[in-house]
Amino acid sequence: MLDADFFRRWMTAAAVSVEHEAERLTALDSPIGDADHGSNLRRGFTAVVAALEKEAPDTPGAVLVLAGRQLISTVGGASGPLYGTLLRRTGKALGDAAEVSEAEFTAALRTGVDAVMTLGGAAPGDKTMIDALVPAVEALGESFEVARAAAEEGALATTPLQARKGRASYLGERSIGHQDPGATSAALLIAALAATAD
Ligand code: ADP
Ligand code: MG
Ligand code: MG
Repeated sequence: MLDADFFRRWMTAAAVSVEHEAERLTALDSPIGDADHGSNLRRGFTAVVAALEKEAPDTPGAVLVLAGRQLISTVGGASGPLYGTLLRRTGKALGDAAEVSEAEFTAALRTGVDAVMTLGGAAPGDKTMIDALVPAVEALGESFEVARAAAEEGALATTPLQARKGRASYLGERSIGHQDPGATSAALLIAALAATAD
């Protein structure tokens, strides 16, 4: 079973990973975006960790709802509302249980990913974070490690795609040949999840 501490450790691991990879995420956002993805997420996850320490939410759902709210309120870019919605809607789907099973978490995360697709209008293949999140949630039923690998593969597979959503889509065919920054950060979040479960 997964408790509030597990989700707090996931968010902390995600913050550490975003901090380490911020320059790479911003570099990926340079040719097909506005070179701020790493700094956007660094600001957001710093706020997430601070809020979790201050408010100490005591259920899995409350941890993710609080984290999602912080991302929505502190990240100016498209990724803030999208990742914020992912975590907030996943947290809401978990309700107020003190512990959740891996199957319950997988179902909740699917709800969260669906909410991101509704909000942003992106489908798999549009060269966005969805290209890492959908394979991850599909593989999560198998194991955290398989989900990590699926997200990573999904992120790498965005390189030959033409962007159809977000800032990169303004480039049309010139978006081809670059890995999507949001799919890359989504893979980092899933890797942090797998490392937390390990
Ligand atoms: P901005 O583009 O506003 O500067 P970021 O650089 O922080 O925001 O985030 C860019 C990432 O957000 C993209 O690489 C992409 O993965 C993701 N993204 C952008 N628009 C959408 C959308 N409509 N649906 C899903 N993901 C999106
Ligand atoms: Mg950007
Ligand atoms: Mg921006």
